[in-house]
Amino acid sequence: MSYSQGVGRETTEAKRLRAIEVLDRLGTEMPEVRIQLDYHTPLELLVAVILSAQCTDKRVNLVTPALFQRFPDARAYSSVKPELVEPYIQTCGLYRNKAKNIVAAAKALVAEHGGEVPRSRAALEKLPGVGRKTAGVVCIHLGGDAAFPVDTHVKRLAYRLGFTRQEDPDKVEEDLQALVPPERWMTGHQLLVWHGRRTCFARSPACERCVVAALCPRRGVKQARPTDADRART
Ligand code: SF4
Repeated sequence: MSYSQGVGRETTEAKRLRAIEVLDRLGTEMPEVRIQLDYHTPLELLVAVILSAQCTDKRVNLVTPALFQRFPDARAYSSVKPELVEPYIQTCGLYRNKAKNIVAAAKALVAEHGGEVPRSRAALEKLPGVGRKTAGVVCIHLGGDAAFPVDTHVKRLAYRLGFTRQEDPDKVEEDLQALVPPERWMTGHQLLVWHGRRTCFARSPACERCVVAALCPRRGVKQARPTDADRART
């Protein structure tokens, strides 16, 4: 299959088929793709995803062993002031805000969910500091609500591949969900994140070694759109 038409002339069905082909090729290239954050419990996953905002997964994984040992459950976080969490995460960036959110989220988990992490995206989004993307990532890895979370990589890839023209991540997610069957949303998210990290960089993407170049209307692009700033640290 070769993609040579302009995105504007592509039918919805052709776009769906192309999206599936993109995921098939990326899945063949990266069959073992998985979340890079280390965690053993749903709460550890939630905290790690909160910490990963504006921070690399590698750095998060460096700080979480000591953090998780000191705060083994939601009650442990909920019983301290954020200042006690800060020293454990201060290399993660925005650490004061993250500490405040983690403690506030833990208090809400204890008060409203018996200390457990809910699997509902709506319930997760009500927790302090938990946005739609974070809630979606937690959900798909805990077997909760289906989601196609949109981070900076997914947003950039969706635009370059012609799967969306939207800026709002919620609308980008809607466009992706319309193209890809729900059972592939989780791996689709992971594959696009990894392709963004390894090949389709925000600036100077490596189109010459991209396995989906033949399916991409933006192959050869040299830089992101001005609104698609390079916030990725990896
Ligand atoms: S061809 Fe280039 S712009 Fe298109 S997905 Fe591949 S790396 Fe990204």
